[in-house]
Amino acid sequence: KHAAKIRLDTVKQDHGREKDKADRATSELVLDQRTRMILLQMINRGLLSEVHGAISTGKEANVYGAVLFPTDESAPVQRAIKIYKTAILVFKDRERYITGEHRFKAGADKGNNRKMVKLWAEKEFRNLRRLHAAGIACPEPLVLKLHVLVMEFLGDRRGYAFPRLRDARLTGEDVEDQWRNLYIQLLGIMRRLYQVCSLVHADLSEYNILYNDKQLYIIDVSQSVEHDHPRALEFLRMDIKNISGYFRREGVNILAERAVFNFITA
Ligand code: ATP
Ligand code: MN
Repeated sequence: KHAAKIRLDTVKQDHGREKDKADRATSELVLDQRTRMILLQMINRGLLSEVHGAISTGKEANVYGAVLFPTDESAPVQRAIKIYKTAILVFKDRERYITGEHRFKAGADKGNNRKMVKLWAEKEFRNLRRLHAAGIACPEPLVLKLHVLVMEFLGDRRGYAFPRLRDARLTGEDVEDQWRNLYIQLLGIMRRLYQVCSLVHADLSEYNILYNDKQLYIIDVSQSVEHDHPRALEFLRMDIKNISGYFRREGVNILAERAVFNFITA
């Protein structure tokens, strides 16, 4: 396993061009051979043009910004690429989400880590497709290859990602109303997720929701489970607890958690 540093943003476009050190540091990605090959293949197929620095480096995955320059010279399109880590330790915790997931019975081989990572990425891809089809605001999933998932970039034209709800700064005279409306909006999303997508997010919090212009976007659905998963309702209660705590701290007069549970599941 050769971990090599490459500057993917220069692979295709400006071979060998020197950038200053600080610039290079942010774009140097430590990716294994296999991952680099997948990205290069995507570049060669015209799915991406450049891969940029990390938007986020997490425990389980890194998310990178990328750009596609369409061949018809229309405006560049931003993309986000989530690359799941294939290190073994990371995956121990995932078991409880996979076990009991009938969609993954056949493929789940806990001894084969690379296969597990692929399943995990697949799970996120399929869950995102369901959300998107149900009209829930989320990144549109575009391409999946092994542990590399390309999706719509949630951010502005300049390439700045929308903030997590945790980091969002609401402004205006009616900030209190805005918080209340976001709470109501989120309850509607959770209900739709349950009723239309048959899913429970299972890691819902102000960290896995992006915010822009009064709109919430749901992300990070790799651990989301079918509502008939043996622990689905336990995960749902946890989600409700998390978001209730968050909105309470933001000053919203929240509903009882039981009432929310009934609203979502009834
Ligand atoms: P962590 O281990 O840090 O929790 P994660 O594996 O949970 O990472 P995500 O929550 O899906 O990964 O994404 C991590 C961060 O990357 C998000 O908080 C968000 O800031 C950014 N991000 C993810 N997807 C997108 C997207 N489609 N557009 C813009 N930014 C994104
Ligand atoms: Mn996350």
